[in-house]
Amino acid sequence: MSENIRVLMNGAAGKMGRALSLGLAALPNMQICAAVDIKSSEVDYGFLCGMGEVGFGLQTDLAAAITESKPDVVVDFTNPAVVMKNIRTAVELHTPIVVGTTGFTEADYKQISKWCAEFDTPVFIASNFALGAVLMMRFAKEAARYMPYVEVIERHHDQKLDAPSGTAVTTLEMIGEVRQPMSQGNPQEFERLTGSRGAEVDGMRVHSVRLPGYVATQEVVFGAAGQVLCIRHDALSREAYVPGVALAVEKMAAMNKGELVHGLESLL
Ligand code: NAD
Repeated sequence: MSENIRVLMNGAAGKMGRALSLGLAALPNMQICAAVDIKSSEVDYGFLCGMGEVGFGLQTDLAAAITESKPDVVVDFTNPAVVMKNIRTAVELHTPIVVGTTGFTEADYKQISKWCAEFDTPVFIASNFALGAVLMMRFAKEAARYMPYVEVIERHHDQKLDAPSGTAVTTLEMIGEVRQPMSQGNPQEFERLTGSRGAEVDGMRVHSVRLPGYVATQEVVFGAAGQVLCIRHDALSREAYVPGVALAVEKMAAMNKGELVHGLESLL
């Protein structure tokens, strides 16, 4: 491996791709060696991200870009419809991949684990790379042991494709590990407007707000007689994700086992 960890950014023209490229390139041990997106551009990629000239533009073919630029790690922040194909491409070329794209199913995770073993290449996936969000999930799981009545409200910018967010799903799964299955609310409850009580996951409700202005915010609200506990995390800018992605890139660059590693908490 070269002295600097060479990172290929996939989804490089997107909001996360640009912010992460800027953040990772500023670290002393990393460099962005190629940028891939479905939007091609000959404009120097450094100018797209607000950093100095890097000497290359956006490419559109992930496999060709990996073969040419030989990254140590691919970072993928694209969209749920294309991410499985991207992961397959990276591992087939024996290149570890750190994935922030959300929207995976259990079947997807099983398939990715098989690819990791088949091509002896690691994959890291986290639904949230912000340290504060990982702590929010951990504290919510702890609170649910004592306060099992819970609803989640997540708020994101209005260009987000999937709902609820990957973080909301992970939070409810973690709470589900400690909370006895039970029903909440009035058994006679009915919705005047379909969807007004949100989606249900194991008897818990999740509500998704999509508005311009938000990056990512989540509240986990616990209710008990005479009291309410709210555990909230706000990602105020995309800088929040840089340290978590950098940590995952370092771990994947050094990992020599072909396995799927899941969740930032597993690296802390
Ligand atoms: P965005 O729409 O701004 O960017 C996505 C980019 O991917 C676009 O530039 C698009 O052209 C590109 N793209 C689409 N298909 C592609 C393909 N096949 N190959 C290469 N590039 C492709 O979205 P965003 O806000 O940057 O978010 C991207 C993803 O990251 C979403 O799934 C979002 O939910 C997720 N996300 C995860 C975290 C986390 O901490 N895990 C944080 C924020 C966002």
